[in-house]
Amino acid sequence: FDMFVLAFLERLFRPTFKKDDFVLGKKLGEGAFGVVYKVSLADKKPNSKKEGDLVLKKATEYGAVEIWMNERVRRACANSCADFVYGFLEGSSKKGGEYWLVWRFEGEATLSDLIQSKEFPYNVETMILGEVQNLPKGLARENKIIQTIMRQILFALDGLHSTGIVHRDIKPQNIIFSEGSRTFKIIDLGAAADLRVGINYIPKEFLLDPRYAAPEQYIMSTQTPSAPSAPVATALSPVLWQLNLPDRFDIYSAGLIFLQMAFPSLRTDSSLIQFNRQLKRCDYDLIAWRNTVEPRASPDLRKGFELLDLDNGIGWELLTSMVRYKARQRISAKAALAHPYFDSEGLLALSFVQ
Ligand code: ADP
Ligand code: MG
Repeated sequence: FDMFVLAFLERLFRPTFKKDDFVLGKKLGEGAFGVVYKVSLADKKPNSKKEGDLVLKKATEYGAVEIWMNERVRRACANSCADFVYGFLEGSSKKGGEYWLVWRFEGEATLSDLIQSKEFPYNVETMILGEVQNLPKGLARENKIIQTIMRQILFALDGLHSTGIVHRDIKPQNIIFSEGSRTFKIIDLGAAADLRVGINYIPKEFLLDPRYAAPEQYIMSTQTPSAPSAPVATALSPVLWQLNLPDRFDIYSAGLIFLQMAFPSLRTDSSLIQFNRQLKRCDYDLIAWRNTVEPRASPDLRKGFELLDLDNGIGWELLTSMVRYKARQRISAKAALAHPYFDSEGLLALSFVQ
């Protein structure tokens, strides 16, 4: 079987939907490019209950790219992202039709909801590990939970990047906890670019979230005065991927998520914005930032450094290899997964013995 035949058969036997099949529920989100609802299926087919709750995004013209990305993800790296069910154009494209995208409802909480809780990371512990660890509450236990979340995020990113997709909007709001698989998955491929097959569009500046964006994106968008409003096909080869390392944009954003999980005081929007300003003043050198803030650090900030300093500073080492000014100096998702931060089995075994 070749890939084309497989893809065709897969589409043929998948359920298809139309407008009237959905009963709108709670609104989950609303951005400049679409509205997202929790939906259920109208109870027409006897087996429709099996589908469970779904999520529907009604999107503008950018929805076309998002459908493309989701179709590709479900064939190439299904576990990285929310389970995509179906996408179609509702109405005619000339008369301002909308793109409708449907996913399985993965769960109630995004990573953003979870890190805003005072209980974080303990509120995530049983969700991802299945049981409470045999460790006293404290830094080592918190580190273990954060480590598990980071591993899952990097695993999902590695899947996307290996497929040739850069997400470009990695942030806690776009990471959903999947209750079915007990893992974090990536959502919202609305700003993603697929560089290997050449589906890409130059993002408008306002598509990117400045709180989590790597510095190079500002440079690119200011040098691109007239961005096309619709997807354009460009012939970008794997060679160009190697030259520009666009995947490292996502790594920077994931590094900021790691930072927010380690430092309770950096979890609010305003403190993250302030951090970004400070880091820019330090020429994006995280070690220089540490040197300026650590001497007069609040207990909360000190706690973050202590967590990252565990196990000979292996967490701090990983963080500083993700959040770097130059994209090519940032670690890849695959290399990050092999980083010694993730094999602290020894550390855990030691705590059990004590
Ligand atoms: P946008 O950010 O463009 O509004 P998203 O795709 O990020 O759209 O979805 C908005 C919100 O809807 C998410 O932050 C999340 O809370 C929720 N959501 C999206 N997809 C799912 C899903 N598959 N399962 C559960 N909730 C989802
Ligand atoms: Mg989103």
